[in-house]
Amino acid sequence: MRLSQMLFVTLREEPAEAEIPSHKLLLRAGYIRRIGSGIYAYLPLMWRVLKKVSQIVREEMDATGAQECLLPQIQPAELWQESGRWDTYTKAEGIMFSLIDRADRQLGLGPTHEEVITAIAKDMIRSYRQLPLNLYQIQTKFRDEIRPRFGLMRGREFIMKDAYSFHGDESSLKQTYQDMDRAYRNILTRCGLAFRPVEADSGAIGGSGSQEFMVLADAGEDEILYTEDGKYAANVEKADSLPADVEPSPFSSYEKLETPGTETIEKLCKFLKCSPTNVVKNVLYETVYDNGMTVLVLVSIRGDRDVNEVKIQNELVKLAPQYNAQTIISLRVPDETAQKKWAAKPLPLGYIAPNLEDDYLSPNKNVAPKFVPIADKTIVNLTNFVTGANESGYHVVGANWDKEFTLPKLIVDVRTAQAGDRALHDPKQTLKSARGIEAGHIFQLGTKYSQAMGATYTDEAGKEQPLWMGCYGIGVSRLAQAAVEQSYDKNGIIWPVAIAPYQVIVVIPNTSSQEQVAAAEKLYQDLDRVGIETLLDDRDGRAGVKFKDADLIGIPYRIVTGRSLTQGKVEVVKRASGDSQELSIDEVVSTIQKWIEAEIGN
Ligand code: ATP
Ligand code: MG
Repeated sequence: MRLSQMLFVTLREEPAEAEIPSHKLLLRAGYIRRIGSGIYAYLPLMWRVLKKVSQIVREEMDATGAQECLLPQIQPAELWQESGRWDTYTKAEGIMFSLIDRADRQLGLGPTHEEVITAIAKDMIRSYRQLPLNLYQIQTKFRDEIRPRFGLMRGREFIMKDAYSFHGDESSLKQTYQDMDRAYRNILTRCGLAFRPVEADSGAIGGSGSQEFMVLADAGEDEILYTEDGKYAANVEKADSLPADVEPSPFSSYEKLETPGTETIEKLCKFLKCSPTNVVKNVLYETVYDNGMTVLVLVSIRGDRDVNEVKIQNELVKLAPQYNAQTIISLRVPDETAQKKWAAKPLPLGYIAPNLEDDYLSPNKNVAPKFVPIADKTIVNLTNFVTGANESGYHVVGANWDKEFTLPKLIVDVRTAQAGDRALHDPKQTLKSARGIEAGHIFQLGTKYSQAMGATYTDEAGKEQPLWMGCYGIGVSRLAQAAVEQSYDKNGIIWPVAIAPYQVIVVIPNTSSQEQVAAAEKLYQDLDRVGIETLLDDRDGRAGVKFKDADLIGIPYRIVTGRSLTQGKVEVVKRASGDSQELSIDEVVSTIQKWIEAEIGN
């Protein structure tokens, strides 16, 4: 491709709309343009990258025996009503765009395709002989994200590969799950990315497991906790660890003490000269269920630890049936304005005890009349502990369960693991922290959707059984940007060779030199003939600008037909290392061919 004929516009200035390096660079280098919030045009260079990533994904999926198909993006509401997700997705979470057609029918734009694929499976899979089956597609997804940001990282329209597998039993599901795990590792390796598979939260669906594939980058939205022996890695949302040992309590008798200005654990421990491990901290959460019911939850946890909101959310979703609800719309620590909606009198914030009285709640049919107490496991064995006195400016010390306080009935793990904690599998290992971009997520769904939608098969004994399902997503557009986030320098993008839009750029420093033009044209054609994807910078203009642009767009190898032509040579520069060498014109093509093969194999 000749740059002179391409839609090619680079920006010198940093675009104000972008925060992270990869987003800035893709805008500056002319790969993408923002059309609306979370909506981007993939310009020709970007589209080439996306096609390459898609092709790698396709090859690795095909290698597992999965079959490609293409499912509709416009989906009838009835399918989502059957699975019970319509209201949650369109109203509660609001992640799904919905519309009404001319015949007044409700439709949604596909954020994901479990419903559609399950409907197909219900219709077409009859017998165990048709199993297992794995179908995938590569397609644009629509999600009305609350906070679209970082360009393609979190768009409202983005490209995903999603696969759905069907099985007669759990062991077959586990087999395919393993195959997908391998395929995902291959995909990310072939795309030239440094990544880490981690244990992931499976949300309220439960199931026996899910894994995320994290591309390692400081700008990643996710925190990963891992051990250096390579035996443990988890998203912090899911991670477990051994809590630190409890220090002996300095208190031996129960007392209420005036503790002014100690609404934080740090201030309290300084004031009382005790360890945060001696404190029972009580955190109030306001949960709103999908039927509008507000429930106030009091989580008691050891003072040195923080509540993991994903874990507490999972516990609260389990309680939904008690309130005739299915799921949660919101979960937050209520501020003063929020409290006004349900508090009968001001709460002793910072001084709350595990037994906060229910008369703080004003009668309201949309508010549960009682606090729901939940204990984190860390508090169960505490003795002579410190906690709030339910009175501003006061705490109690030397308290014990079954004496001054009753341990909540619901005892669960809602603790956030953190770097420095000891690992469960080997207490000598401590957890380390890294940041990552979730590029893929694989999931054992079990029979949730097949049961909800009546997708069954007949087993060998002639019995109707629900299908076992797995689902496997990879964000093609997010992955492409993640590659940039992992690989750039002050001059621009450094594409991994496997997914670069072009492998080589031939730069003519001076287009008025016939010799330079002729040499460049010949190289351009020779490279093209052996299948090396090449850009020819044949624009009029200063050499310096062309070099800057070549660096900015990140093409792996740059050939310059400059001064050394007189010795029958050209300059060849590797973008990643900046290494420059003079090669005789005859050996350029074969040398670059070898470099490319070494990078991506053949
Ligand atoms: P996240 O936690 O980042 O919102 P998710 O868990 O909702 O993602 P999945 O439903 O697991 O995402 O989707 C599969 C893959 O699709 C993700 O691993 C990610 O790579 C990609 N993806 C999800 N949401 C977006 C988005 N808004 N923009 C770009 N890619 C996305
Ligand atoms: Mg996910």
